Amino acid sequence: MTKWMNMADTVIAGGQIDQSQAMEVLLSSDDDLLSVLDAAYRVRLHYCGREVRVHILQNAKSGMCRENCAFCSQAIGSYSGVDRYQMQTVEELVDGARQAHEQKAVKYCMVTATRGPSGQEMDTVCEAVRQIKKELPIEICTSLGLLNDDQARELAAAGVHRFNHNLETSRRYFPHVCQTHTYDDRVNTVRAARRAGMEACCGGIMGMGEELQDRIDLAFELRDLEVEAIPVNFMDPRPGTPLSHVERLRPSDCLRALAMFRFVNPRSELRVAGGREVNLRHMQAFALYPANSMFTEGYLTTPGQKHQDDMQMIEDAGFDIAELDPMPVSEHEHSHAAL
Ligand code: SF4
Repeated sequence: MTKWMNMADTVIAGGQIDQSQAMEVLLSSDDDLLSVLDAAYRVRLHYCGREVRVHILQNAKSGMCRENCAFCSQAIGSYSGVDRYQMQTVEELVDGARQAHEQKAVKYCMVTATRGPSGQEMDTVCEAVRQIKKELPIEICTSLGLLNDDQARELAAAGVHRFNHNLETSRRYFPHVCQTHTYDDRVNTVRAARRAGMEACCGGIMGMGEELQDRIDLAFELRDLEVEAIPVNFMDPRPGTPLSHVERLRPSDCLRALAMFRFVNPRSELRVAGGREVNLRHMQAFALYPANSMFTEGYLTTPGQKHQDDMQMIEDAGFDIAELDPMPVSEHEHSHAAL
């Protein structure tokens, strides 16, 4: 048995791999790539089955952020020509959810480019969430920047199922990519979301100039935080940003990173996220062996593969598209509560 399968067996039996084993995964050779993916797939299959969870993003407020994250085309001082608009209306947000549902998304994620939500933005999002939950069987995620406990409770009460806030990279490397807020600001937001009863979606970006050890440190930090979902993005350098010059990763390095995240966080919904198409190119479908989740129809400020092509890719690879019950999520919860 290969050492990769031994790692899979350990994790499937409820054990954990250590940091040196995680590094072995990241340093594995191209000749070993299929063996690594095979072992990661055993873990995915055991904990998550063969379904792919499809998510759709809604850029609810674009290009107006005053934070300085170096990778972000919506950051202050970034001149990358992204759309700039204030918070969308309740009707626009609900309409986005209808479209996401038509495209078989299980999760609709409303995102604002901001340090944190204003009172008015909270009101708009919460009202949209209440309307969506009455009408559609779709889970709702929001990503609104830094949150305090009161804001987290308000979102949870409105019906937000999951809150996204990425750590982006390791604690060591974070000050290289952002100086307007701290790593602990981000960790505290993730903790506030979980305290309020929402699931935490929290991941990062590979390929910002970090060391391999930074990727491992992030994976272990997320394990300690017990996050339910991990989006793994691959750097797609945006013109006009401080990281516009970085080189894209090799597809095999993206796949090794996904495998490592699966071994370290075996139960989490692992999402192959932004930068999938341009970094993985012809190897995109291989990402679904470690990852059980993906975005479709592009990202916040960059286009992605079309929905129809994504569905075809999932089907061609032999995976199933995850579905929710046809009943609106709010009714579903009530029926459980009544049991
Ligand atoms: S806080 Fe979010 S939107 Fe603002 S610059 Fe950072 S990543 Fe971009």
